[in-house]
Amino acid sequence: MNPLDLIQLKQLRFDVASQFVLQEWQPEDLSKPKCSKCGAKGFQTPYGNQEAAVCYCIRCNYYFRAVPLDRHCLCVTPGQEESRCLGCPNFERFIQLVRKRLPALELLSFEELLCLKTPL
Ligand SMILES: [Zn+2]
Ligand SMILES: [Zn+2]
Repeated sequence: MNPLDLIQLKQLRFDVASQFVLQEWQPEDLSKPKCSKCGAKGFQTPYGNQEAAVCYCIRCNYYFRAVPLDRHCLCVTPGQEESRCLGCPNFERFIQLVRKRLPALELLSFEELLCLKTPL
């Protein structure tokens, strides 16, 4: 297989995997601070700076930084807003889910993958 085919195959595999993930994808509302340990809703404290407020979790007695607002994205298809998606926890979670799907698709040929891909 020549390198170009290989790149196309990888791209197609990635597309099909993201398609599967998108079917059950729920972007998380990141505007409310969430404890990075237990996931409970945190309280914003007056500390921190404009970019990232310091938040507090009663349950864990734990201080954590909120995800900076300008790093949130709520795109329906993660990756839509390139500048915001990079670094957005939603996008990172999405990519991780896609990566988990990839090994199962490695057994499929280019043609089989094409059949799985639905036109957007
Ligand atoms: Zn907590
Ligand atoms: Zn996004």
